[in-house]
Parts: sequence; C-alpha cells; structure tokens
Amino acid sequence: MTSDKSLIIIGAGMAGLSAGCYGRMNGYRVRILEQDMRPGGLCTSWERRGYTIHGNMAFLAGTGPGVAHHRIWRELGVFPEIQVVDCENMLIIEGRDGRTFYLHTNLEQLERHMRDLAPDDGRLIDDFVRGVRVFLSYQLPIDKAPELLGPGDMIRLLVSRFPLIRAMKKWQKIPLQDFARRFQSPVLREALGAFGGLFSDNLPAVFLLLCAAWNHRKSFGYPVGGGLKFARAIERRFLGLGGDVQYGSRVSKILVKDDHAVGVRLEDGRELYADDVISAADGRTTIFDWLDGKYIDARIRTIYETWTVSPCVILVSLGVSRSFPEVPWSAAGTIYPLEQPVTLGGQEIRTLRPMIYNYDPTLAPPGKTLLRLMIPASYDYWDSLRGTPDVYKAEKEKIAETIISRLDKRYPGLASQVEMRDVATPLTFERFAGNWKAGMMGWELTAKTASRSIPKTLPGLRNFYMAGQWVETFSGIPGSAISGRNVIQLLCRRDRKTFVTSVPSH
Ligand SMILES: Cc1cc2nc3c(=O)[nH]c(=O)nc-3n(C[C@H](O)[C@H](O)[C@H](O)COP(=O)(O)OP(=O)(O)OC[C@H]3O[C@@H](n4cnc5c(N)ncnc54)[C@H](O)[C@@H]3O)c2cc1C
Repeated sequence: MTSDKSLIIIGAGMAGLSAGCYGRMNGYRVRILEQDMRPGGLCTSWERRGYTIHGNMAFLAGTGPGVAHHRIWRELGVFPEIQVVDCENMLIIEGRDGRTFYLHTNLEQLERHMRDLAPDDGRLIDDFVRGVRVFLSYQLPIDKAPELLGPGDMIRLLVSRFPLIRAMKKWQKIPLQDFARRFQSPVLREALGAFGGLFSDNLPAVFLLLCAAWNHRKSFGYPVGGGLKFARAIERRFLGLGGDVQYGSRVSKILVKDDHAVGVRLEDGRELYADDVISAADGRTTIFDWLDGKYIDARIRTIYETWTVSPCVILVSLGVSRSFPEVPWSAAGTIYPLEQPVTLGGQEIRTLRPMIYNYDPTLAPPGKTLLRLMIPASYDYWDSLRGTPDVYKAEKEKIAETIISRLDKRYPGLASQVEMRDVATPLTFERFAGNWKAGMMGWELTAKTASRSIPKTLPGLRNFYMAGQWVETFSGIPGSAISGRNVIQLLCRRDRKTFVTSVPSH
C-alpha cells in the first residue's frame, strides 16, 4: 500500500522505529533521521573485549503470548526472532534480618513464599494476590490509541473490563512504599520497598501487580542478546517494509510554515521536507528548542515545570572469567545490604544489586560471565564533572574499584577474575539518546502521574506529532513502542484510513 504522504520521524529509538514500521504498514513514505550511527536510542548495548555490555532491559512486557503487547512485538519482527529466557525470579532481596525474599515469577509459589515469610500479614497478602489475579484475567486494550476512544468505546470498556478498571484505579493510587509499610513482617516491608526503589520512591503499587501478573503468564521475560540486538530486529523489519533510515543526521530545528510543520533542519544546515513530522526524540528539546516553546499551553507548561524526570543510573559492567552455576536466575538480580555504606558518584549507597547473566551466555566468551550493576545516580553531580575530563575519568575508575572490592567479598577471588570493566554514567546515556537529565524512562512514574495522559500533539501546530517516553506516563520499551503505534493510528484516523498491521513471515 503506498500513499502520497511522507513522514519524517526524528529518532530511531523504540518509539521512532515503531512509528516507522506502522507508518510503512499503513502506506506512508517514511524517513527516520537518527543522530547516532545505530538504532535503539536508550535500548542499546556495546562490545568490549569479547563481552557485550548490555546497556538496557532486564525484562520486557510482552515476551510471551499471554499479554497483549506480544502482538506488537510480533508485528515489529522481534519475536520469534529473538529468544527469551523466563527466570525463576524477577528479583531476590536479602533482608537486613538475614532472611531472603524471592520475587518468584510463578504466582502460586510467590504466594506460598509470602505466607511462609509473613504469617501475620495474611489479609494484605490476600489483597495483593486478588489484585494480581484481576490483572491475569484481562488484557490492557491496545487496539485503539487512547485519544481515539469515543464515548461508545468507553462504555464498552467499562462494562467488559469493570474489575480491571476498578483494580487499576485502586492500585495506581497507592504508592508501593505505603503498601510496603503496612506489612508487619520486616523482610516483606523491606523487600517491597526495595522493589519500588528500583524505579522511583513514589512508584504506584499497580506496577508491582502488573509485573507479577505478566511474570505468571510467562510474558515478562528477558530477551537474549542485549539491547542493540533487539533494536536491530526492529530496524530490519522497518527496512524490509521499505522504510528509509539515515544515521548521523542530527536535527536542530523543526521547520514550520503558517503553523504547519513542514520539515526539519539538520545540524549540517540541510533542510528536509515532509507532509508530517513526528518527533520520537527528547520531549523538552523538541518543544522548547526545536520549536522555541511557541506551541504550548498551561497543561504542557505544568508538566515540564512540575513533573519529575525518572531516575538516572550509573551502569557498572564487569567481564569475569568464571561461571556462576550456583546463583539462581533472577532477571533484575539480587539486592543485598553492604556491611558499610559506600559513596559512589556523590551518593551514599547501602545496598548493591549485581545482575549475573549466567542465563545469557551470548554476552560473554565461553565459560565467562557478564555482571552488571545499576547504581542510583545524581544527574547534577555528573553534570558538574562535564568540564573536567580527568576528574570524571578518575571517578569512574574509583567506582569500578569500589564495586569490584565489594563483590570480591561476596564471591571470593572475583577481583582477580575481572578481565573487562566498563562504567557508563548518566552523561553516557545522555550522549546516546539526548534524553533530558538522562532520565532512563522519561517521566517518573508516580501514584499521581499514573492516571494522567500527555498530549501527542501541540496546541496550534498542525502536521506534527510526538511519540515515545516523554508523552507516556507508563513508558519503558513497550510504552515507547505502543506510543509510536498510537501516533500512526492518529494519522490514519485523520487521513480517513483504516489502521492496518501485519506480522512478518519467518
Ligand atoms: C539503564 C537502563 C535500563 C532500562 N531498563 C529497562 C527495562 O528493563 N525494561 C524497559 O521496558 N525499559 C527499560 N529502560 C527504559 C527504556 O530503555 C526507554 O524507556 C526506551 O528505550 C525509550 O525509548 P524512546 O524511543 O522513547 O526514546 P530514546 O531511546 O531516548 O530514543 C530517542 C532517539 O532520538 C534520537 N535523537 C535525539 N536527539 C536527536 C536529534 N537531534 N536528531 C536525531 N535524532 C535524535 C536519539 O539518538 C535516540 O535514538 C531502561 C533504560 C535504561 C537507560
């Protein structure tokens, strides 16, 4: 199907690639402009000394057919091309009281384990498990972009999914930290709090329930091979659909004529034109730099002035010449308390969370293993080192040394087995993707923002759309991919076309 209409998409991250694929499926002529020389944006990985440093996802919603997102990954050519590992645990947390909490991926096993650990918390555990079961029985709607739901759709959704909507409303209002504090059991209090802390201190409890439901349905697995391999699969799909991607093309302005977006200017001065422009790059840069803040209203201003950007991290990766057969598979690793806190990147750190990739041998040479740790970071701290490369380098080295010495206590002999070390800071992620304050998932997901929506168009500007983690409150890789798909649904509606999709034949 070919259309006369052309699209320029800025950014070949998850949102841009997804919008590109669905744009082609629906007959638009699509050109993606990407500043980097590779696809993926934040969903990336890189090679060092025979190891693949996996710079992104620990788990992904929709890896198995039990969840609606799976259809999108199949349409985008990810599965079955990429293999998936379903770990026995999503996360392991060693408590300060010496007991260990396993966030099992099987719900019955998880429920038994919670009851064993916390016999006095029966009512709270009932409530939690009941909530997860509601999410098990229903799929999140993906057939229509939320912006296209009319009153009839809303009524149908309300009637057919009433228990789901009621559970959503209930659990998205409760911050996970508050829910954790209701437990009598110290280990559950600590463990649920620590799970929330991985994402944000204000994470709504609904996120944990959704993760538990997706895990139980074997649809929250780990895609083998690292972020770049994942992105390349979607890039292949896009090229196979006849799309055009131009790497090394850095946009510096969106061209506007009579309040219509007509194209972009690249940093090298070239101007490229299209019928519609979709920015799948950083939201703040798009609105305030490339469009000079001319197309905003109170709602957009409030978001950019008052919402918090999601946390950023330091990613320490180690290539270790040994295997770890004794370590249970856990997608997000094991959190354990340090005997003494350490200061890393200006922050006091009390726990470590090694992720040991004994379940992905493709990331290391035979018999060896990739380990990685994500450490909460202060963007301002790293930003202040921007002008002093020697200090920046020394700080990274200090972090690697500190981590190796602490891990050596837990896995004796490890220090002498480390043959590759790599420290990526918030400035590294910012360089990859140009994302504001290096926020790893766009906006922080909180009990307040969970039920809000962010517009994908700007007031007063026509032929212009936005996709990706800055226009979603529930983002991550699936959220960005869905966002790209939704934008093409909006375009199809405007152009009076039926939105169509296809799945590649393998
Ligand atoms: C360490 C880490 C771990 C994560 N773990 C998970 C996980 O386990 N599960 C999960 O679901 N999500 C995870 N995420 C979040 C997820 O990676 C992101 O939310 C998602 O990839 C964002 O995709 P996006 O397309 O919206 O934005 P981006 O990836 O930021 O893509 C934007 C693209 O625009 C390009 N661009 C920017 N400026 C320009 C310009 N001027 N000209 C041209 N191109 C430009 C960038 O180069 C980039 O390719 C993680 C993120 C990080 C950093």
